[in-house]
Amino acid sequence: MTIDETSGVTFQHSVDLMVKRAMDALDLDPGTARAIHGCGSVLKVQFPVKIRGTVEVITGWRAVHSTHRLPSKGGIRYTPHVNQSEVEALAALMTYKCALVDVPFGGSKGALLIDPSQYTRDEMQLITRRFTLELARKGFLNPATNVPAPDMGTGQREMAWMVDTYKHLHPEDINYLACVTGKPVHQGGIRGRTEATGRGVQFALQEFFRHADDVERAGLSGGLDGKRVAIQGLGNVGYHAAKFLSEEDRVKVIAIIERGGVLIDDNGLPVEEVYRHMVEHKSVAGFPGVKFDSNGAGALELDCDILIPAAMENQITSANAGRIKAKMVVEAANGPVTFEADEILRHRGVTILPDVFVNSGGVIVSYFEWIRNLSHIRFGRLQRRHDEVRNNQYTALLEQLTGEQIPAETKRWLNRGVDEIDLVRSGLDDTMRNAYQEMREILATNDKVIDLRTAAFTIAIRKISYNYLDVGVY
Ligand code: GLU
Repeated sequence: MTIDETSGVTFQHSVDLMVKRAMDALDLDPGTARAIHGCGSVLKVQFPVKIRGTVEVITGWRAVHSTHRLPSKGGIRYTPHVNQSEVEALAALMTYKCALVDVPFGGSKGALLIDPSQYTRDEMQLITRRFTLELARKGFLNPATNVPAPDMGTGQREMAWMVDTYKHLHPEDINYLACVTGKPVHQGGIRGRTEATGRGVQFALQEFFRHADDVERAGLSGGLDGKRVAIQGLGNVGYHAAKFLSEEDRVKVIAIIERGGVLIDDNGLPVEEVYRHMVEHKSVAGFPGVKFDSNGAGALELDCDILIPAAMENQITSANAGRIKAKMVVEAANGPVTFEADEILRHRGVTILPDVFVNSGGVIVSYFEWIRNLSHIRFGRLQRRHDEVRNNQYTALLEQLTGEQIPAETKRWLNRGVDEIDLVRSGLDDTMRNAYQEMREILATNDKVIDLRTAAFTIAIRKISYNYLDVGVY
């Protein structure tokens, strides 16, 4: 069980303490607080699979934290380091994440206790299809009630197997594609979902840097350009966040921390090349021309402007929080900072952008994918050509009336009709911006809201509580 080594607080308890702080700020009545707080239901499965002639029994869970909105939503992770308590805590984070960013879902999470690197592709398919049967038969997989997505150790491939298994079980379900999100585009997925969480991290930081007061309060100045960033984890989230921030916002990625060590270069690391090296060699070690240190955890304490933990929970604990030198911690992973560490960092004046906000990009775009599947049509398909024709007429008319030529690049941009990826990006950016603005607003106006994390939880809990107050309990 992951615990804060010094305080002994588990991940679940850590999340509970953060939630409680927000509930106190809202003066929520104890009954409603208890109704929101508890995990609704948990399915534990143990199923046999025959792997290379031997029967293995595999354990997994699917926790449903809330059903105030349906379906309940959240990823499924494959990892040898997980337990029921952590799955419940992660499901709770999904509830608050969805509520904060106005994604009308309850919160859920699932896990299989396996090490994916120990199995072949065919074995992974067997295990995933068998797990899917367990989930579907027991009411934990359905487009209307419970919709998984990728998480640590899973991706498009697993989602394609899941949707295919569900389709064969329920051929009469016209909405079968909506039973999972994060599917490959040619299997009903949406453009922009794979990189959505990393893109969301970028949009979160861009929005933060639009508010000069907040930037100054964090002890920083100016924009993202040239900021020195250390990132932990070059998985799907960390890779895309580091790539977009370095290529488009010109941040300097001065450290990439991975299993087995850290690469450090004060001039900024070439993210794409490091990623390709890591995929090929299964490690960042041996990347040419830059410093490598096998003490990866120690690198969290490097002197930098922004630290982005994008790996897993419990990375900044009471044991190392006192030595973190970053001005800002941007939680791209779920629960990377423990409750105790959160207190220490706040007292030291470190600004934290919390996980429920920062990594919500994945579920936001999952929501778009789910809508696309229910409407059975790609966004933009009906109007793109129509917009293009009309835009061409506008620009031609503008040139005719003014007698001036619109610069070619601008004209191309004005003339084109929007495509699915444009709409997905714009919807994600807008959602992230609104959420941050709501957070800074409540932080400025409610004395009991002491930081952005409490702000995020307070907004989420207030929205969920309306549900209980409006419709009561049934
Ligand atoms: N696993 C992602 C998360 O933790 C995405 C969940 C989803 O899209 O349902 O937010």
